[in-house]
Amino acid sequence: MRIILAVGLAAAAAVTALAATQDVARLNDLGIAAYDQKDYATAVENFRAAYARSGSSKTLERNLTNALQALANEQAESSNYDAAITNLEQAISIAPDNVAPFVQLGACFLRQNRVSDAIFRLEEAIEIEPGNLDAHELLGKAYYEDNDLPSARAQWDYVLQVDPSRTKLQELYEKAFREESVEWDFQRKSTRNFSLSYPGEVPYDVRNRLVRILETAYREVGTQFGRVYPPDPVQVIFYGPDQFAQATQMDGHVGALYDGKIRSPLTDERGSYLDEEEMRRRLTHEYVHVIVRQLAGGNVPWWINEGLAETLSSQLTDADRAEVAKAYAEGHTYPLSQLEGDLLREFDAKQLRYAYRQAHVTIAYLWQRYGRTRLQGLMADLARGVPPQEAIRNSYHISYEQLERAVQQQFGR
Ligand SMILES: [Zn+2]
Repeated sequence: MRIILAVGLAAAAAVTALAATQDVARLNDLGIAAYDQKDYATAVENFRAAYARSGSSKTLERNLTNALQALANEQAESSNYDAAITNLEQAISIAPDNVAPFVQLGACFLRQNRVSDAIFRLEEAIEIEPGNLDAHELLGKAYYEDNDLPSARAQWDYVLQVDPSRTKLQELYEKAFREESVEWDFQRKSTRNFSLSYPGEVPYDVRNRLVRILETAYREVGTQFGRVYPPDPVQVIFYGPDQFAQATQMDGHVGALYDGKIRSPLTDERGSYLDEEEMRRRLTHEYVHVIVRQLAGGNVPWWINEGLAETLSSQLTDADRAEVAKAYAEGHTYPLSQLEGDLLREFDAKQLRYAYRQAHVTIAYLWQRYGRTRLQGLMADLARGVPPQEAIRNSYHISYEQLERAVQQQFGR
């Protein structure tokens, strides 16, 4: 997401010229100096005091709202969305005709998966400034997350017409309408916590089973992370034979995925409905990704994200253990530092299979040995932007190398 930066501050002279008191000018100077040092919290404090004493000077109003936006921006970058939202709401209450904080607020809500709040604020932004391209792009994104593809298309068509150079949006646009070409006649069903889409022919008992599995994952995974639940219903899209590959362009070895919506095939390669246990494993795995993203955004390394999804969705079987032991014996394991990025692009199917197993046993080891509270500490560090190795050290007092050795000792024979 592109960041909306605050524009430059007006000079202090403008305030003194308004015959404001020396005190106001001094506070404004302090605010500007702090802002220039990127100490936005101090800048906000000084501008707020100056603004209160100035009898609502326009210059100070602008300085204060710019500083609030810069502070919110910084907080959002370290995933502290609650604080960012509070500051942006303050900026809006001070200057309700300034569009920028509305757009920024919409972006924060989207990052928190608060889709209906995002839609509300972004529609307001467009009322204030019709044609604001960032607002239209984000509103399209919010409609897309809400699975309202025609409304998303209306926003994005406009943005891309005015500014065809937005290549990221162009990619998302193509992805969305590839999906729409598969999903256009899907049925919908809403439960308290999920919004399901599926082909019309899916029988009643299969649908009911899916709802039951999802609602169980909602409760159980939420509990494991310390009562964490998504703010809005999670979109889940189920595909019939061949449709999953058409919509997602994923190979056969991908069982299901989460890209802001959970997407899963309903059938195996022979066209029979997946049995309850297999469906439970896949949906629970993807639901863990929903919660991980909610907790720490994009800051979670691959091996922790997948290790958690595997550990919380399936028990390690004897066959899994044998496979892991073989991976260690034959040198198919990796330093954890190599398992942080987007491995889907780097690894072939066989390497990926081993990497998933290694991630699974590593998280299973941490989970069994140290429990849930440490894990919650780890997630909190990652959310703040602490690098993974340091976050592991903070919560478990071990290095990556020590962790690799301990896991190999337990599973490598
Ligand atoms: Zn996964």
